[in-house]
Amino acid sequence: MARDTSPQCKQCRREGIKLFLKGERCLTDKCGVERRAYPPGDHGRGRQKQSEYRVQLREKQKARRYYGVLEKQFRLYYDKASRTDGITGENLLTLLERRFDNVLVRLGFAASRRQARQLIRHGHWTINGRRVDIPSYQVRENDVIAVKAETAAEQIIRDATELTAAIPAWLQADHDALTAKVLRKPERREITAPVQEQLIVELYSK
Ligand code: SF4
Repeated sequence: MARDTSPQCKQCRREGIKLFLKGERCLTDKCGVERRAYPPGDHGRGRQKQSEYRVQLREKQKARRYYGVLEKQFRLYYDKASRTDGITGENLLTLLERRFDNVLVRLGFAASRRQARQLIRHGHWTINGRRVDIPSYQVRENDVIAVKAETAAEQIIRDATELTAAIPAWLQADHDALTAKVLRKPERREITAPVQEQLIVELYSK
């Protein structure tokens, strides 16, 4: 399966913002953005030209990297969002937010989306009693998420719960039993991704 293998801290530095791609390390003073707050590369400290196109492109790249989605898949999400009733940008963010790997992070069951994807692919989670090993699975209202019985990853998951400050209101989690429920779809104001989705819509509408 194709995946983005570029260094994660460089991705944050390129976007000029903490994207929290490395779990616990992102909360320490070892964070790449905290240590070197300029883009990577020889010309990282030089002045960057900010054309309208560049601003829109960077916003799309930021969203893609935040959710850990490849270019082609991101475009498919956009196409689906534009075909759905409602505001395209909000539809796009809702689709990304409802990915199973993102939901595990929001619930506090994984320290990063990369870790969440690994836990899912290795078959440690069930939804409504059935094993789901697809990180892009779209969670739905009333889905019940649970860790597989006697999983070898239990300690990793419990460690991740220690890092979680708050769980969004559209989700419910039991950190002792390692179970959760999807109460409803997320509303835009509940999606904390640092993304201005309108810029992405403008980019793809050209
Ligand atoms: Fe980004 Fe985390 Fe690296 Fe900081 S430590 S630059 S937030 S991936």
